[in-house]
Order: sequence, then C-alpha cells, then structure tokens
Amino acid sequence: MTQDFVLQRQQLIKSLTKAGIRDQAVLRAMASTAREQFVDQEQRDLAYADCALPILMGQTISQPLIVATMTQALQLSGSERVLEIGTGSGYQTAVLARLAAYVYSIERYQQLSYLAALHLAEAQLDNVSLYVGDGSLGWPDEAPYDRIIVTAAAPEVPPSLVAQLTMDSVLVIPVGSQRRQELLVIRRASLETRIHSLGSCIFVPLVGVEGW
Ligand code: SAM
Repeated sequence: MTQDFVLQRQQLIKSLTKAGIRDQAVLRAMASTAREQFVDQEQRDLAYADCALPILMGQTISQPLIVATMTQALQLSGSERVLEIGTGSGYQTAVLARLAAYVYSIERYQQLSYLAALHLAEAQLDNVSLYVGDGSLGWPDEAPYDRIIVTAAAPEVPPSLVAQLTMDSVLVIPVGSQRRQELLVIRRASLETRIHSLGSCIFVPLVGVEGW
C-alpha cells in the first residue's frame, strides 16, 4: 500500500508538471509530502486524485494543482516567514514548511487545527506555529510577514493582512463572491504594488471580521 502511494505521488508530480507547474522546488516539496497522511481515513484511496476532498467541519483539503499554483506564486527562496490563513488539514502548511524558514498558520476550527498539528508532527515538520482564531485579522503579534497565503475566499483583500506584509512581499488570495473568485497575486516591491490574477477558482468562504 505504501509503495502504491509513492507511485501515485510520482504520477501526481508528473501531472502537475504537465499542467504547467515549473518551480522545481515546489514539485520537490510536494513529492516529499505524503498527502495520504492529511486526508481523512476514508478518503485515503483518493489522496492522489487531483481534486479537493472533504475534511471535518464541512471544509476541504485543497486540490494539489491549486496548492502547487499558489505555492509557486509565492516565489519562496527558503528565508521567508510565511503567514497562512486556513490551516485546514495542514497539507498546504506542510508544503510551505519545506520551502520557507517558518510558517505561521491560523485556522478558525479548533478540531482541524488539532488534527493538523498531529499530521505536521507525523511529517516531522517543526518550523510551524498554529493558532486558532479569525485569520482575516492576521496574526499581528508575529508580523510582519514576507509572504501571506489565504486558502479561503474573501469578499475583498483584508486590510489587516496588507498591513502585516513587509515592503518586499507577496500575498496570494482568492477574492470574489462566495460562488466564484479570482486567485489574486499581490506583489509589493519597495513602493510599488502590482496585482495579477491566476484565473478563476472556487474556495470555501473566509469567515471573519474582514471576510464574510
Ligand atoms: N489549505 C488547506 C489544506 O491544505 O487542507 C485547505 C484549507 S480549506 C480550503 C480553507 C480553510 O479555511 C478551512 O479549514 C476553514 O475552516 C478555514 N477558514 C475559513 N475562514 C477562516 C478564518 N477567518 N480564519 C482562519 N481560518 C479560516
């Protein structure tokens, strides 16, 4: 079974490459992260299908292609402090932890955060701090961050998150209605801010003071 998962992971990496993921470090990080450890027991056979899967509390573990696309957009070099909003299963957190210096991740559901902590410990990743609360307000005590990734859909870019970015930073966030969003990449370099869209997407809502 374990061997089967290794093979399925290799096939997933091939399909991500075919789909246009070019960042070799991102592909290596995903090749090293056992998605089957992060999905619910009854979903394990689907762990390497390139789709979102249900997790507890009516939430989802993101589709691998979306995880790869968002991570690639962050342009991580290894030295960054990253803030993630929406820990969920902890899978995206694990991929980030392999590519950044330190990851701070916030989840609104205690139960999900608790399970994610177990999964991350199983993956032997210790450069991560988890927090339960409203991530739409960020984590001001640990700010500023070089990168922020939001894995839930916001009606607009939360000002609190922008305020917690460094002057040379990237924020990746789905913004739009609750039914459909644009995956925005907001790049701040010195005094200039550039925004571009990676296309349309569908995420669960960011529920909070600066979300829905
Ligand atoms: N990246 C996750 C993974 O790999 O499993 C998937 C995240 S799931 C698509 C979005 C998560 O955002 C859910 O777990 C949801 O509970 C969480 N969420 C929604 N609003 C939030 C908020 N205001 N603060 C923190 N987490 C929030």
